[in-house]
Amino acid sequence: MFRNKYKLMVSISIIVLFLFVNVYAVPYIKLVINGQQVNTDVPPQIVNGTTLVPIRVISESLGAKVDWDGNTQTVSVTMPRETLEAHTVDTFWEACESDTVTEPIIDDSVTPEFKAVLQKALALLKEKDNTTYKFVCVYIPRIAVQQYKDNIVGSWVDYTTHNVYFNSTNINRITSGGTWGIEYVAITLAHEAYHESTFCSGSSISIYSDVNEDEIQAYAFEYAVAKHLGVSSDLQNWVKQQITSLIN
Ligand SMILES: [Zn+2]
Repeated sequence: MFRNKYKLMVSISIIVLFLFVNVYAVPYIKLVINGQQVNTDVPPQIVNGTTLVPIRVISESLGAKVDWDGNTQTVSVTMPRETLEAHTVDTFWEACESDTVTEPIIDDSVTPEFKAVLQKALALLKEKDNTTYKFVCVYIPRIAVQQYKDNIVGSWVDYTTHNVYFNSTNINRITSGGTWGIEYVAITLAHEAYHESTFCSGSSISIYSDVNEDEIQAYAFEYAVAKHLGVSSDLQNWVKQQITSLIN
């Protein structure tokens, strides 16, 4: 998950040295990635009619991995298939990394049946995706049930207490069979933890400029976790549908 930044810095400075050859003062060139202006250590330059930009900034902004092999003098740029999701998971975890990981307290309002589902969901995260497990545990102090918020929302974060609440109607669907059980609960916990994390990091990744941006990003994160866990394709498709309906 964590990139070798030192190695990267060395490789980039070598590339930059090459770029400085035959470069003369040129007007400042702006670099915009996904609609956001990005400042780089070395500004973009025009050399012999070609515009050169630092490869590290471009690649990493788009979620790619950059490697430098000194023996073969090779720069490798690798673009993961699930760029958007991988980028979201890595960046948020790195921004909010904490050594203190305490499993959320499961509130007394939760029935023994649902408590077992919650514990299994946390265990599933821990076993298959420890990074997300830690992420969830850092941002959710307590998991509880409320009788009613609204019929549409299955779970939500209380932004004062940072607790996560499940709608009791939703729990019936999870525990009395027929739906996605512990996998659904695990990705839901990740979704709500993501919402909470935006208050810690003080920054969020701009994926879409939309009024529903927070929710789209939470679902993008949830989808990434679903893929890491290897949940059923039905459930993955359902998360995709949520994202699609928010975009449209
Ligand atoms: Zn949400």
